[in-house]
Amino acid sequence: MAGRAETYFEEMQREIGALRIVHKENDGFSKFLGSLLRVVTLGQMSTYVTNYTTVLGHTMYVPTGWDQRSDTERYVTLRHEAVHFRQMKRYGMIGMGLLYALPFFPLGLAYGRARIEWEAYAETIRAIAEVDGLEAARHPKLRAHIVKQFTGASYGWMWPFPKAIHSWIDSELARIAIASRQS
Ligand SMILES: [Zn+2]
Repeated sequence: MAGRAETYFEEMQREIGALRIVHKENDGFSKFLGSLLRVVTLGQMSTYVTNYTTVLGHTMYVPTGWDQRSDTERYVTLRHEAVHFRQMKRYGMIGMGLLYALPFFPLGLAYGRARIEWEAYAETIRAIAEVDGLEAARHPKLRAHIVKQFTGASYGWMWPFPKAIHSWIDSELARIAIASRQS
């Protein structure tokens, strides 16, 4: 890693403790989880290894081609994952696991997971606004991507209510706009 992402990764380690990076493509357990997710979502979530970063304990499991991603892309991802590391500290590993998996169902209407992911996606939006500006944070493609994470198979249809996600995004963008006018 180099540049902004590297600097932020060092900051994260000062805050959270030593972190290990594992490349999912070289990790048997990650590949097993990827296949399992493909099966339980009937083939609709097939990009766990190639597109998604996952954190557990003090390990960050990164997707295929992580080192080739741009500094900005890695920085924005790190900002999102830092939220999950903080959540694990706040709730404990078991508490976080239960929140992530249970209320209400492992697949579909996973409210705990939706709240946990929303806290992290709000940070994604803030990071993009900081690096690329408010217009980038407001881009319809980003909005569509985030809505899809909540309503689609990627996280097991965790909160399949697009209107709710749109209004979460709207209020976060409004907060960022107000903060940027004040600074
Ligand atoms: Zn996340």
